[in-house]
Amino acid sequence: MSKREFQTEVSQLLQLIIHSLYSHPEIFLRELISNSSDALDKLRHLTLVEDQYKALPFDPRIDLELDEENKILRIADTGIGMNEEDLVSHLGTIARSGTKNFLSQLSGDAKKDSNLIGQFGVGFYSVFMVADHVEVISRKAGEDKAWRWTSDGKTSFEIEPAERPVAGTTVIIHLNEEGKQYANSWQLKEIVKKYSNHIAFPIFLTYDKSEWNEADKKSVKTRTTEQINAASALWRRSKNELKDDDYKELYKSLTGGFEDPLFWFHTKAEGSLEYTTLFYIPSKAPLDLFQAEYKTGVKLYVKRVFIMDDAKEFLPQYLRFVRGIIDSEDLPLNVSREILQQNRVLTSIRSASVKKILSELKNIAENQPEQYQKFIAEYNRLLKEGLYGDFANRETLLELIRFKSTKAEGMTSLADVKARMKEGQKSIYYITGSAESLLRTSPLLEIYRKKDLEVLVLDDEIDEIVFANVEKYGDIDLKSVNKTSTDGDLKDESESGKAEEIKPLLEKVKGILGDRVKDVRASVRLADSPSCIVSDDEEPSMKMQQMLRAMGQ
Ligand code: ADP
Ligand code: MG
Repeated sequence: MSKREFQTEVSQLLQLIIHSLYSHPEIFLRELISNSSDALDKLRHLTLVEDQYKALPFDPRIDLELDEENKILRIADTGIGMNEEDLVSHLGTIARSGTKNFLSQLSGDAKKDSNLIGQFGVGFYSVFMVADHVEVISRKAGEDKAWRWTSDGKTSFEIEPAERPVAGTTVIIHLNEEGKQYANSWQLKEIVKKYSNHIAFPIFLTYDKSEWNEADKKSVKTRTTEQINAASALWRRSKNELKDDDYKELYKSLTGGFEDPLFWFHTKAEGSLEYTTLFYIPSKAPLDLFQAEYKTGVKLYVKRVFIMDDAKEFLPQYLRFVRGIIDSEDLPLNVSREILQQNRVLTSIRSASVKKILSELKNIAENQPEQYQKFIAEYNRLLKEGLYGDFANRETLLELIRFKSTKAEGMTSLADVKARMKEGQKSIYYITGSAESLLRTSPLLEIYRKKDLEVLVLDDEIDEIVFANVEKYGDIDLKSVNKTSTDGDLKDESESGKAEEIKPLLEKVKGILGDRVKDVRASVRLADSPSCIVSDDEEPSMKMQQMLRAMGQ
């Protein structure tokens, strides 16, 4: 038997999890079942595509076994299993990059933090909220040896050889004071229904069922095994069979969270390509959205078989907040990440999906403006990113994005701005910069105010670079008031000729400012202020370019 220390971060994490999640200890079950389901997905995939696994017996299932008297709960799966090395690296260290983020984001609010646990994948350790000590007996598919990992979740764990007749993993939980409440079949059924009902594999519960025996006039206990989840690929059912609650429940089991989604779009395509997509918009933007190592949330299935998740190919980057499922009839089961990148089927599904998501959003914008406001509050910026990269959908994105403006309260659409344009107005104007209040009082706006022209106030840091590339909304020009060029809407007959008049003054100012400016020009844009600083039309904003590059655009 060998005793080993946990990596320091694991010990820290264990303490944090145990202390911050005390009010939701039940999520341990969700986490362990999802690990089992992942392990079954992995093995199923191998048995379909790898010759050496094809011959292995594979009866995918998850078994919960309750020993009420001794307060022991076992969770067994027939999945991929772990060998000695896997046990050490998966259950003894934190190799994942997201974990540091996780540690820094724990807030002390149990509800928020338990959502984080699912997002960052530190699920296994949640078992120590309810356990005095835990045994993991595992045998990796294709190998003969089995191993027992044991730990009290404090500072160390032990590994020794063990027996297991078939490949898979059994987690044996010796319930502690807090965990004793789960030595209860009714509780276990409720929790599984709540979080794991749509796991694609059957989950069985074995327990002592009390039944009334009419002959003896007393209740007797019989050891019983029952399937306790629906195990259906719910997204493959037709829309009219599904209730809102079904969709919400599936969403929660997909994301491991507690919140309802804001919207969902369920599509079944039956043309030259056959596929089902079910996309969800989370009601709150995922926390890692603006981190380089964000997680995506769309899972790929082929004929109901889980293939992979966290692949950035399924949707364009700006839609990285979308969660859900793509289930295709046409892709091969052994499709790899490399193949996916250029796969015609996926490319078509992807572009149809983007169009679908955007058109559904447009629908909501038109028919449920209040709901749409909630969407905008979370995702407006992501739509702007799309403007930068997704030329095919630029027009739709422009319809979807909302703007602050000198003439509207709250957020306004370009369609509304267009409707407010004055007779003969040729362009829509915007000002960019970093602080809304400075923008609203900028001298650059004086002339527009004087001429009663609306100006959009673009105060998001990405606006400048994004809108530099957007020249038109329909057939109307979009123009930045920060730039040097003047425009037909501003020119005034009486002002021409003035530039000549003040030329000596311009030369003098230029002489004084020297290298600090590129040029000093006369302008018609100011009404009351004598001068202002603007950027050159062609000058790209370096900072913005760097930023977008950093986001991987
Ligand atoms: P995550 O599931 O997000 O990777 P966990 O802490 O839940 O994080 O699990 C850590 C790792 O331990 C998993 O990635 C997996 O490699 C391994 N593991 C956990 N449970 C099982 C299981 N039942 N079968 C096989 N591997 C498992
Ligand atoms: Mg997990």
